[in-house]
Amino acid sequence: MTRVMNFSAGPAALPEEALLRARDELLDWNGTGMSVMEQSHRGKAYEKVHQEAHDLLRKLLGLTADDKRSVIFLQGGATQVFATLAMNFLRAGTSADYVSAGAWGDKALVEAKSYAAMVGASAREVRWEGAEGAGKGTRMPHPRELVFAEDAVFVHTTSNETIHGTQVGLSESLPFADPKQPHVCDMSSDFLGRVIDPRKFSLLYAGAQKNIGPSGVVVLVVDDAFLEASCDDIPSIFRYATHAKNGSLYNTPPTFAIYLVRNVLAWLDAKGGVPAIEKDNRAKAKLVYDAIDESGGFYTCPVEAESRSIMNVVFRLPSEAHEAKFLAASEQAGMVGLKGHRSVGGMRASLYNAVSVAHAKALADLMREHARTSG
Ligand code: PMP
Repeated sequence: MTRVMNFSAGPAALPEEALLRARDELLDWNGTGMSVMEQSHRGKAYEKVHQEAHDLLRKLLGLTADDKRSVIFLQGGATQVFATLAMNFLRAGTSADYVSAGAWGDKALVEAKSYAAMVGASAREVRWEGAEGAGKGTRMPHPRELVFAEDAVFVHTTSNETIHGTQVGLSESLPFADPKQPHVCDMSSDFLGRVIDPRKFSLLYAGAQKNIGPSGVVVLVVDDAFLEASCDDIPSIFRYATHAKNGSLYNTPPTFAIYLVRNVLAWLDAKGGVPAIEKDNRAKAKLVYDAIDESGGFYTCPVEAESRSIMNVVFRLPSEAHEAKFLAASEQAGMVGLKGHRSVGGMRASLYNAVSVAHAKALADLMREHARTSG
C-alpha cells in the first residue's frame, strides 16, 4: 500500500496512527462485538470515547476543570455556525461587528446579515484598508486599524484565511484584535496548530476536517457566561446552550467523526501537544516559504511577510502553463492537493498538523528541482 503526500486544504491528511487505530478497532470496538458506528450514543461504551474527546480537547487547549468554558461538538460545519452564531447572540436592535480579510470572513458576514435582517438586528463590517480592492486577501489587519462599535454584542474574526493563505498574529500570540467586546473567532483552519489562549475568546469554533479529524463535526469552545446571555427563544436544536448542557448529546451526535477526533487528539497529545506541533508547523512552513523566496522569482507568494500562514502556503508560478506542469510533476512525485482554490488559482500547500516535516521537505525539494529545470 502506498499513501500519497496529501497537501489538501480540507478534508485533509489525517495522522496514520489515528487511522490505523480506527482500522484495528473497526469490527470489534473495545470487545463490544461491533464497530463504534453501531453503538448507541447513550451506551456506556460510546459515552466513554465521547468524554475522552471532550477531555483531550480541554487538555490540549490548557483548560482546567475550573475554567468556566464548555466544549461542544456539533454537526453542520463552520458554515452552520456562521448562521447559528447570529441566531444565538443577535436580538432585535442589537448589532455585531465583523472583521473580514478574505473569503471565509465574507461568508460569515453574509450569513449573519441575512439572519440579522429577519429579526431587526444588524451585522456590520469593520472597515480597514485591506478589506477590499486589489490588496484583499494579501494580509491580515493590524489591531490599530480596527475600530469596533462600543455596543457590539460580539466582534467576529477569522484567524486563518484558508483560501488566501493569510494568518493573524504570527509574531505575537493571538488575539490580533483585542476588543473590549466579546471576541468570537473562526479558527477552522489553524485550530490546535499553534498555541493560543482560549480564555481570550468568548467563543471560538473550528470545523474538524483540517487539523483535528474528519468532516462532519465542528467544535465550539464557549465562555459559559457568554452562553448564559444567549437567546433562549430560538429552536432548541440551534441553541448552543442546549448542547453545552447536554454534553453534546442532546440528539444523536456524529459518533464516528467524534471517535476519530478522539484518535487524532490522542495522537497529538502523545506527540507533546500544541507546543510541539507548532514547532513542527513552523519548520514545515519555513521549508516551503524558503523554496519560494530563494527561487529568484520563479515562485511568488502574494501574501505580505507578517501575514503568511503556516497552515496554507499559497504561491504562483510565472504562468498557468508553468503551474499545470508543476502540478503534473507533483502528482508524479506522489503529492496531491496542491492546486489552489478555484476562486484564486495558483498553488496552495496545506501543511496541517498531520502533514509531516518529511513531506514538507519533499515538497520544498521538488520545488527547487522544478525551478532549476523549468525556470
Ligand atoms: N471557515 C474557514 C476558515 C474554512 O476554511 C472553512 C472551510 N474550508 C469554513 C469556515 C467552512 O467550513 P465547512 O465547510 O465545514 O462548513
